[in-house]
Amino acid sequence: MTTSDASPTSAFADEQLMIDHVNTNHDDSLLLLARVLGDRRTATAARVVGVDGEGFDLVVTVDGAQHAARVAFAEAAADLAQVSTQARALVQRARALSGEEGETSIERDISRMRSIRTFITSVSAVEDVHPHLRKITFAGGDLATFEPLGPDTFLYVLLPPSGRTELPFDQSFSWDEWQQTPEDERATGAYYTLRAWRPDVAELDMLFVLHDPSGPASEWAARAQPGDPVGLWGPREAFEPPADTNELVLVADDTGLPAVAAIVEWAPTYWRVHVVAEVDSPAEQQPIPHRDGVKVQWVHRNGRAAGVDATPMLDALRSIALTNDRVYVWGAGESRAMTAVRTYARRELGLPRERVSLVAYWRHATSTLDDDLD
Ligand SMILES: Cc1cc2nc3c(=O)[nH]c(=O)nc-3n(C[C@H](O)[C@H](O)[C@H](O)COP(=O)(O)OP(=O)(O)OC[C@H]3O[C@@H](n4cnc5c(N)ncnc54)[C@H](O)[C@@H]3O)c2cc1C
Repeated sequence: MTTSDASPTSAFADEQLMIDHVNTNHDDSLLLLARVLGDRRTATAARVVGVDGEGFDLVVTVDGAQHAARVAFAEAAADLAQVSTQARALVQRARALSGEEGETSIERDISRMRSIRTFITSVSAVEDVHPHLRKITFAGGDLATFEPLGPDTFLYVLLPPSGRTELPFDQSFSWDEWQQTPEDERATGAYYTLRAWRPDVAELDMLFVLHDPSGPASEWAARAQPGDPVGLWGPREAFEPPADTNELVLVADDTGLPAVAAIVEWAPTYWRVHVVAEVDSPAEQQPIPHRDGVKVQWVHRNGRAAGVDATPMLDALRSIALTNDRVYVWGAGESRAMTAVRTYARRELGLPRERVSLVAYWRHATSTLDDDLD
């Protein structure tokens, strides 16, 4: 499973990534939409050519000829997360109206999402790594039955609504129900990466960036104390290197570095690994495991705001001497920075889609759906 079907936050770096993903992975669901909602019952193929806050523009193949079709969302979408939600709702509506049995890929994703568990647990320890990074350890409760996935395993940390200390849900938590709940009674939270898992004591660590401006999750992390209850919805993963990979390029800001460190720990020792790691200053560098074949380049913002200028990250990437084309580029950080890295990897390095995985871990306040859709 990838982050691309995450709810409630979408991890698409931009509109083009979403369109590419849907056309590549969900052509069967698009055909259902075109046949039923696009009123082209005899269509044999459909692909998305545009998306905005109101719906999708499709090109539909009928009897070998191509036609434009528009499928409108039931509710306007303000960002790419809401576009994902509306797209899932469209497919469900098309299925119901079709009267046909069956399950397309998006419907299978919906079933998988519904099967993801929620672990109720609590904070057992907190440690200030530096003034803008807190390690939080969770233990007890349902973690006795937790099992991680790949090296970038991540979970949605579900927290009490603002101003409350009790969780308004239990193990039966679902995003469908969350969406029906009034905003001030809903769980808050965000995705965080599993940095360490100790199965013998059923404890896990996560590293929380304390950013400014803050949000509900970072504010909670700044105040977290042993005993505070949380829900962990997951696990999920997005790191999927092709089977023949022998060289990795990992690029991340502070939020992606816990995953980078875990990937470096996991990577076979015969792989070459190039890391480009962006943090504010040497004092904020996170430990990346050392071994032969792993090269780490630190990029320092030196007081510049995070997520506004991808140039230093790109300059560092351009200095990497790759040894062959069996490379996999994985990155995590601010949405537009990841879009810039994707353009570099696809256009300048000429890597095919399956060798590039760039995940928007957060979105700068000035980055809107309108920016993405321009
Ligand atoms: C799969 C995945 C794994 C992740 N793993 C981690 C992790 O291990 N550690 C971690 O710290 N984060 C991680 N993140 C990122 C984290 O989910 C986001 O930073 C999230 O926005 C934090 O939520 P919030 O409630 O604090 O802020 P929000 O309410 O989302 O945003 C509030 C404000 O903060 C700004 N903002 C958000 N994040 C940052 C940032 N990092 N730097 C500067 N400004 C920011 C926003 O632009 C906005 O203006 C991960 C994200 C994903 C999708």
